[in-house]
Amino acid sequence: MAAIGLTNLPLDLPTATEVFPAVRFESPSIESPTHRQFLEALGVAVYTTDSEGRITFYNEAAAAFWGRRPELGELWCGSWRLFWPDGTPLAHDECPMAIALREGRSVRGSEAVAERPDGTRVAFIPYPTVVEDADGRVIGAVNVLVDVSRQYRAEEAAHAARAAKDEFLAMVSHELRTPVTTIFGNARLLRERGSLPDGPAAMIADIETDAERLLGVVENLLTLTSGTAARQVDREPQILGRVLSRVVASFERRHPGRSVPLAIQDPHAIVEADEGYLELLIGNLLSNAHKYSPIAAPIDVGLRQVDGEVEVTFLDRGIGIGPEDVEVLFESFYRAEAARKISGGLGIGLSACKLIVQLLGGRIWARPRPDGGSEFGFALPLSPDPSD
Ligand code: ADP
Repeated sequence: MAAIGLTNLPLDLPTATEVFPAVRFESPSIESPTHRQFLEALGVAVYTTDSEGRITFYNEAAAAFWGRRPELGELWCGSWRLFWPDGTPLAHDECPMAIALREGRSVRGSEAVAERPDGTRVAFIPYPTVVEDADGRVIGAVNVLVDVSRQYRAEEAAHAARAAKDEFLAMVSHELRTPVTTIFGNARLLRERGSLPDGPAAMIADIETDAERLLGVVENLLTLTSGTAARQVDREPQILGRVLSRVVASFERRHPGRSVPLAIQDPHAIVEADEGYLELLIGNLLSNAHKYSPIAAPIDVGLRQVDGEVEVTFLDRGIGIGPEDVEVLFESFYRAEAARKISGGLGIGLSACKLIVQLLGGRIWARPRPDGGSEFGFALPLSPDPSD
């Protein structure tokens, strides 16, 4: 069974003394018929041991949980075999109940897997609680075993579905990348030759624009869906100002009606990054500023060095963002109402940006501008100067 954290499960379980408020464990064995009836009626696996860890009582739910009826006097737990959630064997004398008794304290927060004699396995959370006499001496322990297999299976299924979806999207994106790059590149070459009559030239320009848009989608999908191994970034020193100028210049060539004033205060600032990721990051923020603001309004792009970081900002005069959108914008598939009204999109560009910035150890933000429009920006750690 895959190791899946259950920290997000709504399991706020009571302690043994909360479960049995009326039960006074005066002796390690459950001698009173009332106690036995009470524990049987619970319907959750419960057993008790003496101070040496020998089983003194278990209810029917525990027998069903273990898939066996241990002899009274068996040690620590009635499970046939025990494992950690990652599948490695867990010795009975190292189980949470054994720890609780050895250390004289209640043990919480552990998870384990029990195997029954018929080979079936059940994931569970134990709640071993030591029982003390009036003088505070440990006289035994009570353990409640909570079956969490259903939650495990649900988490595993969700995990597998996510992985399958990511794999599929990554495969499709890979397949699309090469042909779309070819279409985009050739359309650009044809346009740049400038020898075509107006009609075909406009058609070629449309092919180039749409191929570029498609290429952006493919690159974002690839970034978001590639597995963690593939996400090991090839970091190399990059002069961020140069990459920024190149992307902005290429953007301006493709969008002649748009002005993008560029203010680079620190042209030599170096960051450790993957060039392709930087281009995608800058390209995404620039094309959003373009998409969500009127063509006549300039987009101010700036780069400056502050406190060990290099900051790049994109200031537009467009539809702006609400303060409530500031965080959610970076979640996959989120699109603000105002954005939906004026353009299509998948809502994955900013989440790809966030992932890239995280991989590069930086930060990213969005904020409304006081006089309308939005500011998007990112900051990356400044690479240490080798001459220092
Ligand atoms: P898409 O642009 O395809 O919707 P993104 O992930 O790039 O996807 O952006 C997510 C959302 O963030 C957009 O739908 C829009 O609501 C908002 N957004 C992004 N950039 C801007 C911007 N420059 N101005 C206003 N809203 C923006």
